[in-house]
Amino acid sequence: MKCSIGEKFSQGSLIPYGNIELSPCSGILNYGQGLFEGLKAYRKEDGRILLFRPEQNALRMKAGAERLCMPSPSIEQFVGAVKQTVLANERWVPPFEKGSMYLRPLLMGSGPSLGLGPAPEYTFLIYASPVGSYHKGQRSLNLVVEEKQHRASSGGTGGIKTVANYSPVLNALSRAKAQGFSEVLFLDAATGKYIDEASACNIFSVKGNSISTPPTHGTILPGITRKSIIEIAGTLGYQVEERPVAIDELLDADEAFCTGTAVVVTSIGSVTHQGRRIDYKTQADTVCQKLHEILTGIQMGRLADTKGWMVEVN
Ligand code: PMP
Repeated sequence: MKCSIGEKFSQGSLIPYGNIELSPCSGILNYGQGLFEGLKAYRKEDGRILLFRPEQNALRMKAGAERLCMPSPSIEQFVGAVKQTVLANERWVPPFEKGSMYLRPLLMGSGPSLGLGPAPEYTFLIYASPVGSYHKGQRSLNLVVEEKQHRASSGGTGGIKTVANYSPVLNALSRAKAQGFSEVLFLDAATGKYIDEASACNIFSVKGNSISTPPTHGTILPGITRKSIIEIAGTLGYQVEERPVAIDELLDADEAFCTGTAVVVTSIGSVTHQGRRIDYKTQADTVCQKLHEILTGIQMGRLADTKGWMVEVN
């Protein structure tokens, strides 16, 4: 496996996967000056390899970099480096029925900064790994509401994909997994009444013909899958609302599902809140299944890419 790495973003090179050098005083190690992205390369039946909306990952990284006082690669540099990494590891991209290749771009303050301040040097690298389904083929996920800890607060960094957002969820996620749940559902820090998101995916609630999901006003990650699903659901005639969704509303929904690069679009089987478990419709004829069919159809090349979302690599 090879990964691409560039210190000045225009001078990348491909090197075998392995350890990298970092100053002990680096911005990422000391002050959490780091961002990552996650995207997948899919191999179609005819052998061609496609990326799903990689420019959206580049834009999200750019927005995050501004928030963390970091320079970022241009969209062209980002997408070019992703393609280069996929091509260098082409033989590891699984056939479409087996999975995909997950790509992890990382941007970090790699140079030394002893006093609190932006690092003087930055590194952008991408590593890759073939992956199967994220939750080992589980058809639906069982979520538990985290009653005490929050993922993000207003004015904080919940809306960007900084590495520092993920260590604070590990405690709640580990507790949830130890109790047999697949994911944690975080509530808003201000009131504890509204849903934010899970540790690595966005949440949707379905009632009749209407689909609701929390707005991206800074405490949830603006997911690229979320954005794509909102668009697809709109074209299917659902009424889609981006607005605060109370936990009580979610518990009263007909159906619920989550979205993300890893989970794609997966039904939520149950949500447990304050010891009370609510089960949702997950079988046959769900809104989630319809949306999943269309999104994966576009990603795997079964359906026409009328929106121009897919980018060819080879
Ligand atoms: N929320 C969080 C906290 C995440 O880590 C992810 C995964 N990137 C998502 C939502 C979903 O985002 P996307 O659809 O872009 O993968």
